[in-house]
Formats: sequence, C-alpha cells, structure tokens
Amino acid sequence: MNRRAFLSSSLLATLGAASGLRVAPALAQSGTPGLAVAQSFPVGAATVTAFSDGFLPITADALAGITPEDFKALLQAAYIDGASNPTGVNAYMIELGDQRVMIDTGTGSLMGPGLGQLGANMAAFGVDPASITRVIATHLHPDHIGGVLMPDGNPFAQAGLVVSQPEIDFWQSDDMMNGAPEQFRPFFQQARDAVTAFGERVEVVAEGADLGQGLSLVPLPGHTMGHSGVRLESEGQSLLIWGDIVHVAPVQFARPDVTIMFDAVPEMAAESRARIMAEVAEDRTMVAGMHLSFPGYGHVEAATEGYRFVPAAYPYG
Ligand SMILES: [Zn+2]
Repeated sequence: MNRRAFLSSSLLATLGAASGLRVAPALAQSGTPGLAVAQSFPVGAATVTAFSDGFLPITADALAGITPEDFKALLQAAYIDGASNPTGVNAYMIELGDQRVMIDTGTGSLMGPGLGQLGANMAAFGVDPASITRVIATHLHPDHIGGVLMPDGNPFAQAGLVVSQPEIDFWQSDDMMNGAPEQFRPFFQQARDAVTAFGERVEVVAEGADLGQGLSLVPLPGHTMGHSGVRLESEGQSLLIWGDIVHVAPVQFARPDVTIMFDAVPEMAAESRARIMAEVAEDRTMVAGMHLSFPGYGHVEAATEGYRFVPAAYPYG
C-alpha cells in the first residue's frame, strides 16, 4: 500500500468510526477513482443503499429530439466539458427487517471496462449477494440484470426475482425479438437468461403490484414495455426508485421530451417521464435513479425550462 492510499484509508476509517458511516476500505486502498462507491440513506424504518456499478459516457447521437448544439449547451450549463455525459449506473439495496431487497443488479460482465463494479462494491461494503432475499428488476436491460449473468453463475441465486408481467411478455416474445433491430437482438437472449438464472424462483407480478412491506411497483412504460419504478413507503417517508426515467440528467430534466435510442417506444417513454416528473415535483417525493449521478438521491423541482434535479442533502444523522 502506498503512503497516499494508507493515509486515505486511515482517514476514512477515522471518519467512518466518528460518524457511523460504513466505508469501503478495500477500494479506498486500491486507488479506484471515486471513493463513494456505496452510500446508505434512511427511509423510515428501512435503509436504502446505493451501489455504483461504474459509468457510461453518453453522447448526443444516442439521444433523439435534441440538436448536438443544445446537448452541448445543456452539458456546459451543468459544468460538464466534453462531448459526453458521464452517466452513472447504480443499483439499490433496501434493508427492511430481515429482508434485503436488491433493485437491479448492474451490468455484470456484459458492458466492458468502466462498468461491472457492483460485485466489488458490495463486497467492500460487506454485503454478500447470497444474503439478498429478493431481486426486483425495474426492467430486463443488460445494465440492470447483467449482475445475475456472471461467468461463474448467478450470485443472487438465493433470492427470488420479481418482474412485471408486461416486461416478461415483451422479452419472451419471438415476434418482438425477430422484429427488433439487429443490434438489440442480443438483449432478448440476455433477458431470457437472466430470468432462467433464478430457476423456479421467479415471481411475475401485475403492473403496479403491491409487493408487501411498503414496496410496490410503479408502471413507467416506454423505455421497455414493463419498465417500472419501485416505491418504498415506511413510517410516513417514501422514496421512488424510478429506474431509467433519466439517462442524461443535464439534458432530460430540462427537456423531458428528449428520448434515448434504447427506448422501446420513445413517445411513451417521454410521456412516462413527463408524468412522473410532474407528480414527484408536485408531491415532493424523493427519487433515486439508476442513471443519476451517484448516489442518485434527490428531488425534482419545476424550473423555467422543464425541471431541475436537487441532490439530497447528505444524511449525517
Ligand atoms: Zn439502464
């Protein structure tokens, strides 16, 4: 361990002991950029922990409904220089009583370098995937279910998989697969493999289903047909983990009409985004998002143009 790594890890240990924070010393020592790889946030009686899986640079050509000039201007307004947005990939764990529920599982080994960090970050945080009791998939895209498709098997195999009926129906349909653009066809096999990786322990639920323990699905279709948020309500507090409502925060809060090439039905995705942003801005619901900058907790506020994301204050105590 070099001196700088030693200093940073001992500083982290000291700070962690002082504040009750759990930090990830293994990664602090490894020199991995960005020490904030896991962060917990209380919601009523539950503890929600964001894990980073890494990030993906997204350029203007992945989006529809915005010019490259406007894309660049919105990134610059967010103090991001360069041609791409550093889009985070997060997964969330909800601990409630003796239950540990994972919302999505990151990219696993499906999407190359810069991603696939979820397993290491969970390990550094002291969470064994085998202790997860339930995995809820917001949808079955590779950056959400890749973590169950590891070369040496599904690390979450002890858990049950919860997925919505329209999501399963879409990915199981051979007609949809054969009609999909060539580049998206592998997604179908990956989605099917991910479901198979849970064997008999797959719970296919209705859109908007109540999952018990204050958890429910929130239908947000368009990105995929069964794309769903997960609402957690506990002791009068709530959090909406909204999946892929936003991929490029500097652009899509201001311009919810802007869609991404991965949207199955772009107009429907834009409609769901506009509807849920209006709703959470109105009722002041805290949100978290798989592609919001880590840890991705915050509120949505109406702005002169569209909306603006207000990251949550750090939960000191
Ligand atoms: Zn995604």
